Amino acid sequence: MIKVCKFGGTSMANSKAFEQVKDIILSDENRRFIIVSAPGKRDKNDRKITDTLYACYDELVATGAIKENFQFIRDRFHEIVTQLKIDIDIEPILDRTESEIIAQKSAEFTASRGEYLSAIVMAAYLGFEFVDAAEMIRFDSHGRLNAEYTDDKVKTRLKDVKHAVIPGFYGRDYEGKVRTFSRGGSDITGSIIARGVKADLYENWTDVSGFLICDPRIVPEAKPIKQITYKELRELSYMGASVLHPEAIFPVMKGKILINIKNTFKPEDPGTMIVPNDKYELVGNESIITGIAGKKDFTVISIEKSMMNAEVGFIRRVLSVLEHFNLCVEHLPSGIDTLSVVIASEQLKDGVLDDVVNEIRENVSPDYVHVIENISLIATVGHGMSRRVGTSAKLFNALAEAGVNIRMIDQGSSELNIIIGVANSDYQKCISTIYKAFF
Ligand code: ADP
Ligand code: ASP
Ligand code: MG
Repeated sequence: MIKVCKFGGTSMANSKAFEQVKDIILSDENRRFIIVSAPGKRDKNDRKITDTLYACYDELVATGAIKENFQFIRDRFHEIVTQLKIDIDIEPILDRTESEIIAQKSAEFTASRGEYLSAIVMAAYLGFEFVDAAEMIRFDSHGRLNAEYTDDKVKTRLKDVKHAVIPGFYGRDYEGKVRTFSRGGSDITGSIIARGVKADLYENWTDVSGFLICDPRIVPEAKPIKQITYKELRELSYMGASVLHPEAIFPVMKGKILINIKNTFKPEDPGTMIVPNDKYELVGNESIITGIAGKKDFTVISIEKSMMNAEVGFIRRVLSVLEHFNLCVEHLPSGIDTLSVVIASEQLKDGVLDDVVNEIRENVSPDYVHVIENISLIATVGHGMSRRVGTSAKLFNALAEAGVNIRMIDQGSSELNIIIGVANSDYQKCISTIYKAFF
């Protein structure tokens, strides 16, 4: 039996957390491959190591040196090594890291050093081998993961390794330059390693007791989901439930490896099991819906034209405008004479929105184009929804009673979710109302 364990930033934040992590790992000898994040915040007002490294890079670009910010990083690692009396000479490692950051002058390299140092220190603390992720994880020239090459490398590099600590978040491109995943990417590293070593279980250790039905910052009493399918998880994490990086699901899905989200600070809690469809059992998820998640700041462009359905190539012409502006479309709900495109507002800044609307007008001669900004998308997800009559009615009634105005509806044909658009100002109210209606 092989377990791959990833520990997030809070689990690496200070010497106390390091001790918890060690207890967890040593209590089960199957926990062989350990992926670590950079130390996160020790308390609300603290700074994450990764944020500080990005600040180092900015300082380097602005002043040619990394004095103040790098001192903070030195102090944090010193504190952990000293308090735990770890047998490692950290000073020369920090000196070398500082010189490399200055020499390379790369934001991604700089950011990656949090995980690098974290893994070196944790490996020394556990007495495990340190294996650098850069030896295994390969990015292509566009900065995307080369999954098959990486999988081969993981297999060969870890074949004869009994126990290892591996830094999360980064790999190397074909030129040998260090590249990082997007923020929160250590979850992806854990998933890649789990697939490569054919783990029986990928344990993702964080600071909450599993994937909660919705964001605990909005509904503090939200309970953990006991079991959830890969697809449901993908919908929820993509829609903003930040516990697990949305891309972390793919490698484990390929290997059909179960994920268990666990709490480092309450290791006895069962957490959430993430499983393939065919392994899903009813384990007391009595509700029709599994979870709720949402993202803010979208723009809806609604295009109206009588008989648009009879016009060959109408949708293609709309989409070609979006392609011309290099825009990713989030959703595309349509009616008989209307088509809406939902786009992250971030992409439409600096006059792009006006240009897009004008080009749509020119390209498809609509009767009417209407733009709604500051929209939040909220997904209610559950694979049981399709089999139950009245789920949408219950949801919409509850929102009507709470006075939440629904600006857009998109029920995916998979019947795994119902996505609605509401004003940003209704975001929290909408999520807590849906939670109350179903739980
Ligand atoms: P780590 O540093 O361990 O990777 P993250 O901060 O990335 O941890 O993810 C855990 C955090 O995600 C929780 O502390 C919580 O605030 C937030 N979160 C958002 N949505 C959810 C949810 N549905 N369930 C659990 N946690 C959530
Ligand atoms: N340390 C990185 C971040 O803060 C990656 C991670 O924690 O997963 O985004
Ligand atoms: Mg995370």
